[in-house]
Amino acid sequence: MQYSTFIPEQRTLMGPGPSDVSPRVLNALARSTLGHLDPSFIGLMDEIKALLQYAFKTQNALTMPVSAPGSAGMEACFANLVEPGDKVAVCVNGVFGKRMVENVVRCGGEAVVIEDDWGQQTDLDKVDAALSADPAIKILAFVHAETSTGVRNDAQALCQLAKKYKCLSLVDAVTSLGGIEVDVDGWGIDAIYSGSQKCLSCVPGLSPVSFSPKAVEVIQARTHPVQSWFLDMNLIVGYWGKGGKRAYHHTAPVNSLYALHESLLMLHEEGLENAWQRHADGHRQLAQGLSSLGLDMAVDEAFRLPQLNVVRIPDGVDDADVRGRLLNEFNLEIGAGLGEFAGNVWRIGLMGHACKARNIDHCVASLGKVIN
Ligand SMILES: *Cc1c(COP(=O)(O)O)cnc(C)c1O
Repeated sequence: MQYSTFIPEQRTLMGPGPSDVSPRVLNALARSTLGHLDPSFIGLMDEIKALLQYAFKTQNALTMPVSAPGSAGMEACFANLVEPGDKVAVCVNGVFGKRMVENVVRCGGEAVVIEDDWGQQTDLDKVDAALSADPAIKILAFVHAETSTGVRNDAQALCQLAKKYKCLSLVDAVTSLGGIEVDVDGWGIDAIYSGSQKCLSCVPGLSPVSFSPKAVEVIQARTHPVQSWFLDMNLIVGYWGKGGKRAYHHTAPVNSLYALHESLLMLHEEGLENAWQRHADGHRQLAQGLSSLGLDMAVDEAFRLPQLNVVRIPDGVDDADVRGRLLNEFNLEIGAGLGEFAGNVWRIGLMGHACKARNIDHCVASLGKVIN
């Protein structure tokens, strides 16, 4: 067997993530590795924290990237806030809501599932009824941008309901952060996690999280230790939260953090509001293009995600064949349907750096050639 250096194809990534990573971020990744307690690296960590506070719109002191992908951020939020026997209301209208239920159960909690159809928003009246029926519910958990269905849930209204019933709010913002408005302090979110590889357009493998002062109190008042040593926030703050006095917890993924810093810097330079507008404009351009090909969007315009477009596959068109040809002939990746939507839809991502007019034209033109 002859081994050689792996050189990847130059693809355009327009699926559900990872999204295209800008050359600026890839260059940051290639810089020389520092020790993870080097004073110069610690300065970078402080900047990452400040830039994450900007992206999340929060003053939360406990804001940092977990050294693992979005699913680990999800796990960090549930593992730290849920104790055995706790009741957690979970809104489920897609794959990631279901994954939240799995997390609650594995923490020894009891999930109160509020279910809505795939492709529909979480029904606020159902949530109100569920929370009012059971005052023991401690947390309301939901997915802001459901990547499996392309639906935006009403995060602000759901957080208001959590407040009304004195629950903590726990929010999945993996696909929303950087693509649509997320306002942690303004909406009163208590625990939130995201991912590096969706609208932040960084390499996969990091999960920014943030906890409100109230969530931190709840974590510190636990009667059972957090089951996961690695994700226990009480221990992680010794590395991420102690200024110059940081102590070893685990070896930070140093170069990946250079990349995250650069991608957050790009978001800061562009400005959050401008990034949201760019995603909205890109969505409009894509929707027009798809409609000119006779393709229909699967989600109502009122609660559609601009960064994740779910498109119905026309009768008689072979899902896997189309995606395969886009990849092989046009170097373009789009996503397949997940779960209940498998085989019925494509998921076209306009995430972060990938959301630009040239990519959208390429996608519409390539799809047109492949399906006709
Ligand atoms: C991608 C995604 C996740 C999981 O993130 P990974 O980085 O793949 O672990 C969780 N929630 C949502 C809504 C996602 O889109």
